Amino acid sequence: MTHHHHHATGSVREERQPPREGIDEVAPGILRLQLPISLPGLGHVNCYAMEDARGITLVDPGLPGPKTWKELQRIMAGGGLPIERVHSVVVTHSHPDHFGQAGRFRRKFGADVITHRRFRTFLDPEAEDQESADDLAIADRPVKAQVEASRNQDISPGPLGRATPWGGERYMTSRRRRLRFWAMRKAAGKFLPTPSPTRRVEDAQVLELGGREWVAVHTPGHTIDHLCLFDPNDGVMISGDHVLPTITPHISGLGTTVDPLKDFFDSLDRMSTFSGVRTVLPAHGLEFADLAGRAQDIKRHHHERLQKLREASGELGQGTVHEYMQVLFQKRSWGPMAESETYAHLEHLRILGEAEVDETGTQLRYGFR
Ligand SMILES: [Zn+2]
Ligand SMILES: [Zn+2]
Repeated sequence: MTHHHHHATGSVREERQPPREGIDEVAPGILRLQLPISLPGLGHVNCYAMEDARGITLVDPGLPGPKTWKELQRIMAGGGLPIERVHSVVVTHSHPDHFGQAGRFRRKFGADVITHRRFRTFLDPEAEDQESADDLAIADRPVKAQVEASRNQDISPGPLGRATPWGGERYMTSRRRRLRFWAMRKAAGKFLPTPSPTRRVEDAQVLELGGREWVAVHTPGHTIDHLCLFDPNDGVMISGDHVLPTITPHISGLGTTVDPLKDFFDSLDRMSTFSGVRTVLPAHGLEFADLAGRAQDIKRHHHERLQKLREASGELGQGTVHEYMQVLFQKRSWGPMAESETYAHLEHLRILGEAEVDETGTQLRYGFR
């Protein structure tokens, strides 16, 4: 899942590094296992393990598929963690590199699958509505499909009109996307069973796991169902993809809320309301300490991009999402995800009253007042 953008030059970002071998204790009693993922911009996903009298809790057990399962078995066995003792799996959000093995733990060992109340993947049988179709087609689709889609960029828009809400006709028509969605879900359902949560939690709910009391922190933005876990006693925040050490998570303009970027800003601001944070455990990259500072850095990054859009509007006058994307992103990142994120930023400015949208043509055109 290429849901992260990196804006760096120079050395390789820690989120891109291949998995570290073995198990590291990153906070008292909290173990980090790094699982391989080969997605653009990401070299591994962190799976956190903690033990209590009942057994083991895992947070974010990697991608679906036998390769990750074997790797989990190998690493856990090497670290003296019997895999059959896993009684709970927490999934921070509805991306495959995070929920991947959760269903297997449910089936094999009857483990609880714990998510935020709003957890939903595009493969859920009940996820038939438009938003899920869009999510799948653009923001949440598996890498294979993304590659396929990028090969299909010559497909012209069909009679059903815009391929995306903003008229990005370069990628796929809505009809084709829906067909692909349907076909992929059918095919994927066979070998990629997505977990059905057994416990859906609300913000501020307390979870007893790994001998600690964790407070559920709902952090919508990257996804609407994003969940962080905070242990106030030891000052540990498991931050998922919400706050990463050196990269910023993808913000999709195709989310189910009006202004996903605003949601993300609010969730970033919330990070400074937790006092005594000493250890932040992200889903990619290494542990760090300054949660509030990093959250504000990420916010600043997005404000810089908003400013770039304002400046670009001087040259573009009225520009399409695609044109603004070319201003915001380097060419190697151009594509549906970059467009989606650009759209999220333009919509944010429109809702703030700074930008106006012209909907009369085949594509949305944004201008600034
Ligand atoms: Zn994610
Ligand atoms: Zn991730």
